[in-house]
Amino acid sequence: MLRVIAIDGPAASGKSSTAGLVAKRLGWAHLDSGALYRALTLAALDNLGEGWPAQRVVDLAERLPVRLVLAADRFRPEVAGADVAEAIRGERVTRNVSTLAALPEVRTWVNAQQRLAVQACGDRGVVVDGRDIGTIVFPEAPLKIFLTATPDERARRRLFQRGEAVDVELVRRESEALAARDAADSNRRVAPLKPATDAVVLDTTALTLEQQVTRVVELARGLFPG
Ligand code: C5P
Repeated sequence: MLRVIAIDGPAASGKSSTAGLVAKRLGWAHLDSGALYRALTLAALDNLGEGWPAQRVVDLAERLPVRLVLAADRFRPEVAGADVAEAIRGERVTRNVSTLAALPEVRTWVNAQQRLAVQACGDRGVVVDGRDIGTIVFPEAPLKIFLTATPDERARRRLFQRGEAVDVELVRRESEALAARDAADSNRRVAPLKPATDAVVLDTTALTLEQQVTRVVELARGLFPG
């Protein structure tokens, strides 16, 4: 049985926080696939200038290289041997990542990296989060979760995470930015954001992080032996 838990959902739905804590409690590893798309975007912005033919992005990724490296219980993104976990969270990467993620050749490359990473973990399970993990990357994952929350709640969480004031105007602007990224991710031709038919859909609008983590861990304990 493939030891993968797939956690998908729109931007700022709490996927990575949930996936990281679930992995810790199960003693599994955590792979944030968005971090790989972001690291590729950072590399493309810094090295390719305007316009990103997909093959040039993939060649660049191989050459630098762009990689996910397992450190204790999570994979962290590296570009040319440097840890870019902080750098990929910047506004410039966030604004551009969905454009790059819509390129089919780029997705094929990212998917291959994810499958290799999971293989390298052997019997240790991996909690993988993203947009297409349950539908495309690991459709055979025994447990698939799709997290949702209202756009305003997601905007509030994102602002809080960044330590910014949560005032009405800022929430409105952040909510619009998230909605634009969700629309790009949901309407693209390849691997659009949507729940797998057999995913457990969890609306977290009124849940605490602790509650959603507990729910996923309970489901996992019922499904995965040991
Ligand atoms: O999860 P995060 O918000 O960091 O993802 C950044 C972007 O990467 C998403 O908006 C989406 O365009 C892309 N992505 C994707 N498929 C995934 C994970 C992320 O297309 N599995």
